[in-house]
Amino acid sequence: MEKREQLYEGKAKKVFATDDPNLVIVSYKDDATAFDGLKKGTITGKGSINNRMTNFLMKKLEAAGVPTHLVEELSDRDTLVKKVSIVPLEVIIRNVSAGSFSKKYGVPEGIVFDAPTIEFSYKNDDLHDPLLNAYHAVALKLATWEEIELIKKYAFAVNDFLKAEMLACGVTLVDFKLEFGKTAEGQIVLADEISPDTCRFWDVKTNEKLDKDRFRRDLGNVEGAYHEMMKRLGLAE
Ligand code: ADP
Ligand code: UDP
Repeated sequence: MEKREQLYEGKAKKVFATDDPNLVIVSYKDDATAFDGLKKGTITGKGSINNRMTNFLMKKLEAAGVPTHLVEELSDRDTLVKKVSIVPLEVIIRNVSAGSFSKKYGVPEGIVFDAPTIEFSYKNDDLHDPLLNAYHAVALKLATWEEIELIKKYAFAVNDFLKAEMLACGVTLVDFKLEFGKTAEGQIVLADEISPDTCRFWDVKTNEKLDKDRFRRDLGNVEGAYHEMMKRLGLAE
């Protein structure tokens, strides 16, 4: 399957049409942004890492019963996926306090929750992705109640799988963001990516950050952390 015209260029990926109207190619870039696009940079090798890690995890998620957009990895950076209309919600699951949760509620990072939390933000750059609840999402016709129930079910299933997968390689899954989409047949599937750009990963023993917070907070060794995550998952030497 070959790339045809570019349909979209986002902050971290490009999306290309193919000869099949129901399939697109996502191409992962090394570009990194943070703080609503205010901070910009490059993380060398990130595109390839995020592509391979996302596909590795989505393949396992399919086997665990979560439908995804994945069709076939085409190269280091490029993957063939089902074209979906993205449900404009960022679905965030948290197991441990960090980031905006700690800031908003005035609690330190690192509090382990008894049960995971879920929240939605409206994926809308002009409005800076405001937080909303399921009633707001339905009122705004971003999704139906049935779709939201399914998205919640899948998101918690992803958490159960990913938490165990990470723990097995010495990593605490702190929090992560998912996006879902609707296929041409109307099926809700997991889309976008699962990577150190979209998850917080901490070393189980030292709590060392192995994710994009190293870039956001200028902690150094950003590339090293992404590579370490690949090693932990058995995807690199
Ligand atoms: P952003 O748009 O936030 O800058 P990216 O740079 O990651 O994000 O761009 C990738 C875009 O492709 C995102 O808007 C994402 O919602 C969208 N996308 C992800 N998977 C699919 C898919 N299977 N079909 C169509 N669009 C997708
Ligand atoms: N996240 C993301 N994209 C976003 C916002 C958040 O991938 O646009 C991820 C982020 O990497 C973290 C989780 O979602 O793993 C929770 O992020 P948080 O709300 O704490 O926001 P942040 O601290 O990134 O502003």
